[in-house]
Amino acid sequence: MSNENKPKSNTGKMAPPQPNFKVDPNPGSRVKKMIAVVSGKGGVGKSSVTALSALWTARQGNSVAIMDADITGPSIPRMFGVGPYDLTANDTTIFPAHSITGIKVMSMNLLMEKEDQPVIWRSPVITGALKQFWTDVAWGDVDYMFVDMPPGTGDIPLTVFQALPVDGILIVTTPQDLVSMIVRKAVGMAKMMDVPILGIIENMSYVKCPHCGEEIHMFGHSHVDETAAAEGIPVVARIPIDPAMTAACDNGKIEYFDGDFMGGLKDVLPKI
Ligand code: ADP
Repeated sequence: MSNENKPKSNTGKMAPPQPNFKVDPNPGSRVKKMIAVVSGKGGVGKSSVTALSALWTARQGNSVAIMDADITGPSIPRMFGVGPYDLTANDTTIFPAHSITGIKVMSMNLLMEKEDQPVIWRSPVITGALKQFWTDVAWGDVDYMFVDMPPGTGDIPLTVFQALPVDGILIVTTPQDLVSMIVRKAVGMAKMMDVPILGIIENMSYVKCPHCGEEIHMFGHSHVDETAAAEGIPVVARIPIDPAMTAACDNGKIEYFDGDFMGGLKDVLPKI
């Protein structure tokens, strides 16, 4: 690129070149597409949506993996019923756990002796461990890797975005969230990282009456449609509050859960 074509900052000076913080994958990994699942805060169902997205995508015949990057609140192994003994390793390489249906999983919880042991680490140590999930884990052939991101837009998610080759972002919100602010923050981060936002998933959107089937919107009118339209982002799914889903997640049986909410992914996955 000639100097005249290089982007200029608003002071008229030449913009400094953006540093490249990407880390190289393990030589045993051939991951075609990576999708980060983000949320504004914890507890909105980000991990559940990651799990349901991975399941739907695997059911379409794809090879699928989940990197659990929510280091201090890892819940993916529990949902899939995998534990430390499902990991294998040699001197230099870790091989991910495989769920019953063949979804590959790597998580900090698979490296802890006890599931409830806290990870009390400062951010540089956490981000170092996350980079190792990419450099030291041989993921094999993967069509879609879903990354369950740490909540928010802080230091750790930022480092993950800078280090990993993320192709697209899914945002998880709930009706009681300050949805427009959360989405604007995610959009700002995505722009900085130059990664497209694929869509928004509204979790805990409604409850279905078990008697008459009526959808009850417990948190009032949802603002997800207005927000999504304002940002030009599709709403990929609306997931109801479903006690069967809580039980499936908590008992390691998410792969047996038959709720089929993620069909909207068929329109967005081909975009990356
Ligand atoms: P996050 O990753 O955002 O912290 P989780 O996915 O771990 O949230 O969900 C928190 C809890 O809420 C879990 O026990 C999960 O089973 C439950 N949960 C999430 N979404 C739903 C839902 N739509 N219906 C019922 N329970 C849900």
